[in-house]
Amino acid sequence: MEIADPRSVSVKTAKKRVVIAGGGYAGMTLAVTLAHRAKPSDDLEIVLVEARPYQQALSELDLVAAGTPRPQFAELWHLDIFRGLPIKCVYERLECVHPERHTVSVGPRDCPVCEIPYWRLVVATGAIATTPSVPGLAEHAITMWSVSDAQKLQRQIEAQFKIAATLPERADRERALSFTVIGGGATGIEVVGTIAAVLPKMIRRAGMDPAEMRLRLIEARPDVLYDLPERQRLKARRRLEKMGVELVLGEKLMKVEDGVATVESGREIPSPVLVWCGGAHADPDATDWGLAFDKSGRLWCDEVLKAKDHDDIYVVGDVAAFKDPADGRILPMLAQFAIREAETCGNSLLAEARGGSPLPFHPHMHGEFVSVGPGWGVGWMFKLNVSGRFAIFMKRLTYVMYWLQVGSYRLAWKRTRQMLRLHR
Ligand SMILES: Cc1cc2nc3c(=O)[nH]c(=O)nc-3n(C[C@H](O)[C@H](O)[C@H](O)COP(=O)(O)OP(=O)(O)OC[C@H]3O[C@@H](n4cnc5c(N)ncnc54)[C@H](O)[C@@H]3O)c2cc1C
Repeated sequence: MEIADPRSVSVKTAKKRVVIAGGGYAGMTLAVTLAHRAKPSDDLEIVLVEARPYQQALSELDLVAAGTPRPQFAELWHLDIFRGLPIKCVYERLECVHPERHTVSVGPRDCPVCEIPYWRLVVATGAIATTPSVPGLAEHAITMWSVSDAQKLQRQIEAQFKIAATLPERADRERALSFTVIGGGATGIEVVGTIAAVLPKMIRRAGMDPAEMRLRLIEARPDVLYDLPERQRLKARRRLEKMGVELVLGEKLMKVEDGVATVESGREIPSPVLVWCGGAHADPDATDWGLAFDKSGRLWCDEVLKAKDHDDIYVVGDVAAFKDPADGRILPMLAQFAIREAETCGNSLLAEARGGSPLPFHPHMHGEFVSVGPGWGVGWMFKLNVSGRFAIFMKRLTYVMYWLQVGSYRLAWKRTRQMLRLHR
């Protein structure tokens, strides 16, 4: 790999320059696929534009959501992944796309560093967490979308421990040790499950009684995990209750004030620590680039993943609004789709470089696994329901497969050993 000064790639080149904007699941998969599979005769130049020198492996955040000594585990560094590969990394943000000039500008919005001409542009800028306009929510809640979010949660939890340790009355300690997660989708369940597993140990270590902890999950709909079959939802609910999580279902959050969350029925829930896992939105920058987008800011793309009306721009991952031809629904924001879209896009770019046509993307889902605590999960695969240790094994196996896909056996082995040690 080469860390490239943006100006060094701002000149036109005879090579077919592929600019990949965003180094998440989609961007990393694409860069590595192209670097491994392109032949010298394809004459490709691969340029990754990403502000960070590492990928934040978002789907691994449940492992580090609370209390782990190494939240940085969810960071995959380019130096490890791209070693020896012909990938130029420009550590800047994509600031604007100029389709008419076939260039992108990179750098801060108010003073872009330079324009980079492209043969093909691939937009893979992902999504960010969004909070609705509930009074007090944005000010009080932590979102769970980055390693620094996980660290923030950790700091808030530790601060509450310190406060609780000074309080003589049990009722006051219970209030101080109240933690609330909002959102009963996969992210919310994974985060609340990790907290439920990790916190009692931390509270005991701090010399307090874990029975004084209050952990709640608020969800506006009457159930959790709507993407899973009914049987699996029931298992997840039972597991959470067994872990001491109170499920507040069918209750919409109305406001957050002075560390108290008020729900639709008027119930007031002490929540000095509040984690919002209720929704995501495509990276808002993407709507400024003159490309067609849907109501959640995702960029429309056609069956070969090209941006609407732009033959030399592909869109992949969470930022892409791809309509599943089977049911006409936009694909959900999932790493497994981001990775497969990137694989198809890589094949299309190679086909185009060799004078062929891009390939259509066929979305398939072979399974889905949700962790409910670090050692237990629910989900399905190949139409079979799976749960318990097997489901968590399958979920962790998807991480290992990704490390193998973008990295090497050595990297996958190293990370697997680290993962197994995380919650000991
Ligand atoms: C807590 C959590 C748990 C999850 N668990 C799962 C799971 O178990 N299974 C699953 O399939 N999915 C899961 N997901 C969803 C999954 O992580 C996303 O679908 C996936 O990350 C999408 O990949 P992406 O490459 O499109 O975007 P991302 O991984 O978000 O990467 C986007 C990248 O683009 C960069 N970027 C943004 N704007 C710019 C710009 N202007 N210029 C340059 N770079 C830019 C960002 O820095 C980022 O590195 C989870 C998500 C979260 C938050």
